[in-house]
Amino acid sequence: MDHKARFAVDCLHKQYPEPDRLPGDACLVFVRDGGVGVRKDSTPTIYQEAPPDLPEGLKKEARYLGHRGSVPCYTIEVPADLSLPEGLACSGVRELVGLIPDQELAVAALAVQIIDYDRNTRFCGRCGTPTEPARTERAKVCPSCHRIVYPRLSPAIIVLVRKGDSILMVHGIRAPPDRYSLVAGFVEPGETIEDAVRREVREETGVAIKNIRYCASEPWPFPDSLMIGFVADYESGEVVADGVEIENAAWFDREHLPVLPPRLSLTRALIDEWVGSQGPKQK
Ligand SMILES: [Zn+2]
Repeated sequence: MDHKARFAVDCLHKQYPEPDRLPGDACLVFVRDGGVGVRKDSTPTIYQEAPPDLPEGLKKEARYLGHRGSVPCYTIEVPADLSLPEGLACSGVRELVGLIPDQELAVAALAVQIIDYDRNTRFCGRCGTPTEPARTERAKVCPSCHRIVYPRLSPAIIVLVRKGDSILMVHGIRAPPDRYSLVAGFVEPGETIEDAVRREVREETGVAIKNIRYCASEPWPFPDSLMIGFVADYESGEVVADGVEIENAAWFDREHLPVLPPRLSLTRALIDEWVGSQGPKQK
């Protein structure tokens, strides 16, 4: 399936080893409180030159994102007791949809994700020693026990299950009223992603499925998911919502779809693809 993954970063390439110090010509993305600093001039942008008065302490905390062409791009977290450089306003990543180019949006999400990873791995989980950036790959290394910590990625599956001219949709306990989605869940240790697809459908709805086929994937950096989308066909069983994660589960045909997730997501792309594959609407 042809799906444009909104948070896939295509515009950066990584060059290792990265320098020990923040290069003078670096392009910076400032992160604060889970949002990014945006210069809202005529052309809003997250990319900034290093201000001349940037404190040395912050320079040391700069984390490499990759090169934009020949320019090294770094992210820096500005702590709550310091203000963002002049002219920047803090914005949540999702509020930037449509305001900045899609590729820049993906870099904004990456910066927030890398800062989150950085915060969560300041100390070695095994021996408690402060970690250091590996410089030769996106990783941190413990100088004492040499443990290497990579950014956490949490693979999760989404599946569109078809039965005749209907699809299986679920209403999560915590979802807004009337909002339905597709079966989804995290892959567990010891599972293939196809196992996870079968298990999640069975657990959430009681239904057995067959013909599982991969469609598309996308990074979903809120905070660190990798969504992997599938279609499958109904095999057997009655639909029974699990009552734990899922309040209601049901078959919907194209003419009676419930409120769908926003267009931003792979979930929605799977549904739209299926709707499109149904041929012209019946009168
Ligand atoms: Zn250690």
